[in-house]
Amino acid sequence: MSRYHARITGNDFAALADLVTKYKITVARHTIEKVSDGYCVDAHVTDEQITTLTAAGYKLEQLEDADAQGKVRQSEVRARKAAPLTTNALSVAAATAYLDVEQVEAALAAESAAPNDSFTQLIKLPHPTWEKRTCHALKIAKGSGEKRPGIYFLGGVHAREWGSPDILIHFVQLLSNAYRTNTPITIGTRTFDAMDIRNVIETKDVFVFPQANPDGRNYSMTAESMWRKNRRPAPAGHTKPQCCGVDINRNYNFLWNFPQYFDPQCPIQNSTDPCDYQVYIGPSAESEPETKNAVWMFDTYPHIQYFVDLHSFSEDILYNWGDDEDQSSHPDINFQNPAYDGKRGIASDQAYREYIEAGDKKIAVELANEMCDAIKASRGRVYKTEQSMSLYPTAGTSDDYAYSRHIIDAKKAKVFSYTIEWGSKHNSTPFHPVYSEMKQIIDEVTSGLLAFCIAAK
Ligand SMILES: [Zn+2]
Repeated sequence: MSRYHARITGNDFAALADLVTKYKITVARHTIEKVSDGYCVDAHVTDEQITTLTAAGYKLEQLEDADAQGKVRQSEVRARKAAPLTTNALSVAAATAYLDVEQVEAALAAESAAPNDSFTQLIKLPHPTWEKRTCHALKIAKGSGEKRPGIYFLGGVHAREWGSPDILIHFVQLLSNAYRTNTPITIGTRTFDAMDIRNVIETKDVFVFPQANPDGRNYSMTAESMWRKNRRPAPAGHTKPQCCGVDINRNYNFLWNFPQYFDPQCPIQNSTDPCDYQVYIGPSAESEPETKNAVWMFDTYPHIQYFVDLHSFSEDILYNWGDDEDQSSHPDINFQNPAYDGKRGIASDQAYREYIEAGDKKIAVELANEMCDAIKASRGRVYKTEQSMSLYPTAGTSDDYAYSRHIIDAKKAKVFSYTIEWGSKHNSTPFHPVYSEMKQIIDEVTSGLLAFCIAAK
């Protein structure tokens, strides 16, 4: 059985929604395009699904064989690992293929050692993964103080999205080197002044947790390249290989038990079936060590007020909310109000829309646009700034969880939260593009994150 990257066209939006509700296909929801003969979207589908969908009247443009191309990417990682070690071995700027799981951890540890040890600190996450790996994060900050805002970057949540840890390691390497040498950083047409960089490190706390799901990433890099979930063992009695694992980005405590909260007709990209290849939500909210680690950062560093979770693909910068369309006029219509259970998740209706304060939305969009401009300055790619809910809703995701914390508990900090979906749908194997393309993506997203750190007050 092979999985193919495909572009699927349905006659109307209802047909597109059927892909999720009826055919159980996870679509790249931000790739939806209105085309002359209906709606078109990117997805990864098996031979069997191609036959079913074609028979049902969908038009399919079959792109690359994702498994076969994934094996090529895996061999590039192996070749790089086998090459003789140089002093630059862990430098993303010098790399010719993705860092593997151990190299990401090694690169993080190297950044916390001298000569950077006066402003970097390695943080050991408390929950070992199912395969007993220990994860680390890095704090980048010189000095301390009451009013410093915390900025938290997360990556490597979805196993097959190989580039996010590389982006974050590059960000760390570039930022700490520039600070140490008191030099500016230039990416494309944008220059980040040495003084701006000094301000970030001396007046804010930057937290980078680059590889949240090392078990899954290792499995994707060495076995099944299209793997997305973690590696939780399959429940008893489930013998198929796809019955392993939980989708970490459906496991957070935000409307987690989605059948209770959402309209049964809505095309939500979540599943209660452990054997769902992509979006199994897990046995309970925050059941997974990987989720617990990501949440532990918010609990341990309560001054975190900004959060970006890196994913791929579709060239988007997404802000809250993901469960339904935003509204700012009815505070009582919100995710905590049980009167709206069973009504959430339908786009373009009046039955339910999620409340966000108008002032928050303004700030959320402005910061997203800062990232967008800096990304564009790298090589001209225009990422779309949009609300996370774009026709397809989600629940249990990191960005909605992070922003909901202060609404549930007023003692907690308000966290402006984003998901970046890096990389174009036109790339072959868009979850792990060929590394020459990935390096361009690494540059542009790094530029966006630097601009974000400067703009975050
Ligand atoms: Zn993802």
